[in-house]
Parts: sequence; C-alpha cells; structure tokens
Amino acid sequence: MRLFEGTPFDRPPKCDRCDQLVEDCECPPIPVPEIPPEKQRLRVAVEKRKRGKIVTVIRDLAESNQHAELLTVLKSSCGAGGNLPSATIIEIQGDHAEKIKQILQDRGYKLKK
Ligand SMILES: [Zn+2]
Repeated sequence: MRLFEGTPFDRPPKCDRCDQLVEDCECPPIPVPEIPPEKQRLRVAVEKRKRGKIVTVIRDLAESNQHAELLTVLKSSCGAGGNLPSATIIEIQGDHAEKIKQILQDRGYKLKK
C-alpha cells in the first residue's frame, strides 16, 4: 500500500511520455544518445590470453547500440571470430590490429597512440 493511497495525495506514478500508469506504459526505452565516432578516442591492443590465444582488443568505445554491427564488419573483414565482452569493448580473435585500426579510422574514430 502506498503512503497516501486512497487520499487526494495519492498519485500513482505515470509515464511522462504517454501519460499511462507506469505499469501500463508500453513506450520503448529511451535510447542512449550516440556519441559520434569522431568524438571517440579508442585504444587498440593485441593481447595474449590463456593458452597463448591472441586477441585484438578495442577499448574505450562509447556505449552504443551500434557495436553489434561494427563487430560484424570487423569479423568479416578479418575473417575471424569476435565478441563484445562489455558495452565499451570489442574483441577480435587473432592479431588484426593494423586492419582494425584502418577500419576504425575509415569510420571516423580517433585512435590513442
Ligand atoms: Zn509511456
């Protein structure tokens, strides 16, 4: 029971956008604002993992819902597997640093030296 339930002060929470009760709201989630590539400065590093596995790691990506698309492009360009271990990191299997740097720069990303 809410604090003021049944009194004139009782205001069940409503969605700001559709004015439905929050529990009835079907608004899509508000997207995270996208930071353009030219405003980002990424680090690309080749790292050795367990059992001598080599991966190329891209760090410091801004949070975005475009990373899956970028991952797909990188995987097919490098002919390698890869994944998104976090919202700001892409990993590609093998040493593809030069190719990946080129693709990122072609897309407008800045790279840290
Ligand atoms: Zn809503």
